[in-house]
Amino acid sequence: MTERLTVQRCRELLARREVSARELTQHFLARIERLEPRLHCFIEWDAADALAQADAADAALKDGVTHDRRPLLGVPVGIKDNIAVRGQALRCASRILGDFRSPYDATVVERLRAAGAILLGRLNMDEFAMGSSTENSAFGPTRNPWDPDRTPGGSSGGSAAAVAAGECPAALGSDTGGSIRQPAAFCGCVGLKPTYGRVSRYGLVAFASSLDQIGPLATTVEDAALLLKVIAGHDPRDATSLPDPVPDYTAPTEPDLRGVRLGLPREYFGSGLAPEVEQSVRKAIEHLRGLGAEILEVSLPHTPHALATYHVIATAEASANLARFDGIRYGLRVEGQDPIELYERTRGRGFGPEVKRRIILGTFVLSSGYYDAYYLRAQKVRTLIRRDFLEAFTRVDALVAPVTPTVAFRLGEKISDPLQMYLTDVFTLSCNLAGICGLSIPCGWTASPCLPIGLQLLGPPLGEHTLLRVARAYQLTTDWHRRQPPLATDGF
Ligand code: GLN
Repeated sequence: MTERLTVQRCRELLARREVSARELTQHFLARIERLEPRLHCFIEWDAADALAQADAADAALKDGVTHDRRPLLGVPVGIKDNIAVRGQALRCASRILGDFRSPYDATVVERLRAAGAILLGRLNMDEFAMGSSTENSAFGPTRNPWDPDRTPGGSSGGSAAAVAAGECPAALGSDTGGSIRQPAAFCGCVGLKPTYGRVSRYGLVAFASSLDQIGPLATTVEDAALLLKVIAGHDPRDATSLPDPVPDYTAPTEPDLRGVRLGLPREYFGSGLAPEVEQSVRKAIEHLRGLGAEILEVSLPHTPHALATYHVIATAEASANLARFDGIRYGLRVEGQDPIELYERTRGRGFGPEVKRRIILGTFVLSSGYYDAYYLRAQKVRTLIRRDFLEAFTRVDALVAPVTPTVAFRLGEKISDPLQMYLTDVFTLSCNLAGICGLSIPCGWTASPCLPIGLQLLGPPLGEHTLLRVARAYQLTTDWHRRQPPLATDGF
């Protein structure tokens, strides 16, 4: 089996001058060329631009710049198609943005560039991040590298599949209700949704502004920690960004969990959880107990209301956020006899069916006469859900749970049944409603077909270091993260 090029490994090879940034970038570009016809993780990439960035990184390395100063110098990273990279296309996997190109860098991208990363290209997603399978992309679905007949999850499915297949060592995704953690679980990689406000949303195209967060996907906990360290921190351009200092997420910790209390939320182990998923998750929890953690059962009593609450709040915010795509300002324009017809035609043609469904639902729950019954009520339930978590975190340091009720499903299996699709997020969306942090880490594979299973860790506001400590302990004492999909290793 070929060796996996993690971010850490790339850094070592570059630091020892065993490869140049150009060679490394060429390696990933070659993998992209070879695997993309089968997987379709990227919407677009620009080899010449990536190589030019690599040459600049090589020049810096030659000048003696070290990874202590620029921690990602020469390391290629993929970016989800809803995060602005100056000069690159920004489409949110939608037709409505036409051939729009970003006039500026998102704050996270600015920080990646300052850290020396090479921005490889635009990763596929569900249109405007609405979905759980990437099937809502206007550019066609991404396929799961573990079984190309299955979904990689979504909405950051391109990010997770590209990382799992070794098309890039790490990627950025966004998570509004599970869109980093669920695809990470389906593809067998690590995904982290930071606390709301930990990472700047400046330059992230808004889906539901009170829920959206950008976060890393990688194959190891240490790589995810490094990316988080680079992108986290206060940003005056995002009013919801938190001022708290960024701890050193990468500081090594021992795989000793004595003194750590982990809560097992009763409501996350009910019916609907596939037996194989439950078994692996429970095994992982026993493993953590073996490392010294104390396991307590806790209750999050408002969990059954999370799905409905999420779909009221997320659609309401989406309907407001997506009003700007009107054919006047940027992107697609389909002319009409008057401005109303122009709006109708542009939006009618530019948005896909799921986005339209959400705009209609969101407009409805905000409309006069219904606002109190839906939106206001959902906000109140949201507060109760947040309180459940804060109450649990007075007893435990973090929660352990499944990420998804099942492993990756088949392409086409749920696309015509929105409720079934929405139900795949039951274990992930409460975290966004509560504004807390969550991490997904592989904890097993089903036997046949061979598909990854994710373990979810949920932490209190700004508790990322605790999640990383527990996940690192798990990874240091298990081998799951070394598994690679067969198509990632043949031919290289
Ligand atoms: N799958 C969820 C949805 O469809 C969450 C999406 C997300 O996190 N962006 O809304």
